[in-house]
Amino acid sequence: MGDWRMVCEACGHAEPLDAAAWRCPVCGGAFTLRGPDRLDPGAIDPAAPGLWRYHATLPVPLAAATSLGEGMTPLVPGTLLGRPVRFKLDALLPTGSFKDRGAAVLVAHLRRLGRRRIIVDSSGNAAAAMAGYSAAAGLDCAVYAPASASPGKLVQSRAYGATVVPVTGSREAVARAAQEAAAADPGAVYASHNWHPVFVEGVKTWLLEVWEQLGQRLPAACFIPTGGGSALVGAARACAALAGPPPALVAAQPAACAPLAAVAPGGTDVPTVTPGTTIAEGTRIAAPARPRQMLAAVRETGGWVEAVPEEEIVAALRELWQQGLYVEPTAAVGAAAFRQAVRRGQAIPEGEVVVLLTGSGLKATDTIATLLG
Ligand SMILES: [Zn+2]
Repeated sequence: MGDWRMVCEACGHAEPLDAAAWRCPVCGGAFTLRGPDRLDPGAIDPAAPGLWRYHATLPVPLAAATSLGEGMTPLVPGTLLGRPVRFKLDALLPTGSFKDRGAAVLVAHLRRLGRRRIIVDSSGNAAAAMAGYSAAAGLDCAVYAPASASPGKLVQSRAYGATVVPVTGSREAVARAAQEAAAADPGAVYASHNWHPVFVEGVKTWLLEVWEQLGQRLPAACFIPTGGGSALVGAARACAALAGPPPALVAAQPAACAPLAAVAPGGTDVPTVTPGTTIAEGTRIAAPARPRQMLAAVRETGGWVEAVPEEEIVAALRELWQQGLYVEPTAAVGAAAFRQAVRRGQAIPEGEVVVLLTGSGLKATDTIATLLG
């Protein structure tokens, strides 16, 4: 672990990779990992399962991996509004969402540190991913969730054997309860998918795969559903791992909750917004943990923020379903952003356009049934 360190995005404070801190103890900022993060194509290990083929640029050695076969999801051609795009099918990962990439690597890391009990706060795909990988790795998992969360969303975590702990109060109160439970138990760890930098390192593999699937070339633009920001910041980490100009990274957010779209031109502060109602629940994050990295990912790649209204998300969903791509509403936010960009005449860089599809429609049966009438 000696080659890797966690560096605060806000103040630059650094901690070793095996430190217990999950965010900067000086200023409270989010950590990014720094280390041997350039990918030498010769170091790709095709014999390793799934995303572990990139273990040379991951902070966990292959020998410590527990794999459910996550990674190397299909990159398939399709269309949106008649324009050719490629869809990255991360809805096909083992627990049904892209979060498996982060969970696989983070759970392996925490087990390597000797932790026996994983404590998370989520009621959605991250909880399912962390619970699934905890089960595979033989670790206990506790999911702290808002008491108001629908029981259906937690069934998958319970099936994996996780203990679900309902917490009354705000989303912040849920996070605090999880953090306090972890602090009170020496074998436990608060394993936040939003805060822990090792999670983001796992997620970066989605764009490493795209690069390989395009013949070791990066695409011209990527449209990415963006809530907590791990898919977006992970894409920027993949670009840092590879040589060559990065694709324009487009942060797609529901207009009902689009903090990145609320940043003043040239500004660096991401304001906390009051979230409205959106069908894309996974992107309803009013105050993301790593706002600076998200803004940098967009600005340093020539990308932009696309805030899409609800009707555009639903239209994109229908266009995806009609091509055989059964995704949940949150997963359609990137496709909705592409459609909106085309219709308003936004200049999209020439070349391959990749749209990330983050989660399976099987996650949202009730919502989809309602949409179908
Ligand atoms: Zn700091």
